[in-house]
Amino acid sequence: MDWQKIVVHHSASPTSVMRGKNSVPVDVAMIRQWHLAKGWSDIGYHFVILPDGRCEEGRPLYRPGAHCVAGHRNFIGIGICLVGNFSQADEIPEAQLNGLVTKVISLMQNYHLDIEDVELHREIPGAATECPGRYFPEDLFRRVLKERLG
Ligand SMILES: [Zn+2]
Repeated sequence: MDWQKIVVHHSASPTSVMRGKNSVPVDVAMIRQWHLAKGWSDIGYHFVILPDGRCEEGRPLYRPGAHCVAGHRNFIGIGICLVGNFSQADEIPEAQLNGLVTKVISLMQNYHLDIEDVELHREIPGAATECPGRYFPEDLFRRVLKERLG
């Protein structure tokens, strides 16, 4: 794959769901189940960032994603999904924002990408979505990313 972009998403879900009496965290395994249930071959995202900032690996990077048809991004864009619903006024945990920035910087370095190559799903022409949610703190994200890139 010739990765040229990084695309940020949210799961648009709660951070945990009830299974019987148990609260189960939404993580890469659960999102994979959701996507397999749609008949997909695997989770659509390449990485999932948990609320505590940990990054889990989703679809391997040698395969195209299934996260954004617009702009051919499934083939040129690495898909990263934040667990949570930032279409609601939930604040993103600081650890999760930092975990996202850490992963984005590492991918930028590995694939020689620029800050302009880091996109929110909704910014891609033709993508009719507000993903990663209208309350995702875009300005803060870009500021922290710039600061940590030096
Ligand atoms: Zn999205």
